[in-house]
Amino acid sequence: MNEFDLIDILTLKPGSRLDVELGVGDDAAIVTPPESSRLAMATDTLVAGIHFFSDAPAYDIAYRSLAVNLSDMAAMGATPAWVTMSLTAPKKTSVKWFREFSNGFRSLLQKHDLQLVGGDLCHGSLSITIQVIGFLPKNIALLRSGAKVGDKIFVSGDIGGAALALKMLSGQMEVSENYKQILYNRFYYPEPQVELGKFLLGYASSAIDISDGLAADLGHILKKSGVGAEVYTNKLPICKGLKAELGTNEACLLAISGGDDYQVCFTVPKELSSEMVRSDPPCPVVEIGEITSSNMLKFIDIDGNILDISSAGYHHFN
Ligand SMILES: [Mg+2]
Repeated sequence: MNEFDLIDILTLKPGSRLDVELGVGDDAAIVTPPESSRLAMATDTLVAGIHFFSDAPAYDIAYRSLAVNLSDMAAMGATPAWVTMSLTAPKKTSVKWFREFSNGFRSLLQKHDLQLVGGDLCHGSLSITIQVIGFLPKNIALLRSGAKVGDKIFVSGDIGGAALALKMLSGQMEVSENYKQILYNRFYYPEPQVELGKFLLGYASSAIDISDGLAADLGHILKKSGVGAEVYTNKLPICKGLKAELGTNEACLLAISGGDDYQVCFTVPKELSSEMVRSDPPCPVVEIGEITSSNMLKFIDIDGNILDISSAGYHHFN
């Protein structure tokens, strides 16, 4: 098979949006954004051996690659629409691998009504670069810079699972049979919280997706907003199995420091927070703490002790 046949496999059934005038197959795509909307754009590269294991199933690699890019749209409150992909794969890669990759990619495209409008293939070490383009209403978006003193801090879904999955997949840790699949899915099938992002446009003062860990990513919000935070560790929504496998303290530290969960951490003004919870968010959200006027991020346990998170990927910023 030549390169063009492989591109055909990768771009098979790319989706069918009415706003795509010209999709895959010419030198560039032509699309029409909705009137009175703004475009949100994000791109991310995933490299074998760094962002995923190169011997993982192609379907799972594709799913994760697109999911982490969609997660950036979710964190902005944007509605994703169009996707381009540049795949670099070793010359010896089988046609079967490309088919499975394409199937994994397509399954998530369909789930979010997206269209792949451009694809490119190169030979080299396995890496995947994806660009997602989406829409935002005029004058509103979820930024990292809007958190205010007194705002409540929330996290969606559960956290820590992907970090434990990494330990399991790299052979650093044995995990009991009960939790293997759930942890695997946390790493390769993160759920980009696109619907939550859109819902939060009416409530949140700031948001970020958790790619580098709660401490590091909440730290980005604090830095951009010029505020501090207190987080109560007993309120953290820790992924099922972490406490059983690691004990409460270690589970907590991993949930704070571990990345790759792609849940959303966001802040809501105090006066809107109970209304937000009552308004039926499209996925579970849990209040974990509040924004303070200090320049510190403090994780406080149930006895009032402050956890040492110097090793948790958070760097004091003042
Ligand atoms: Mg992000």
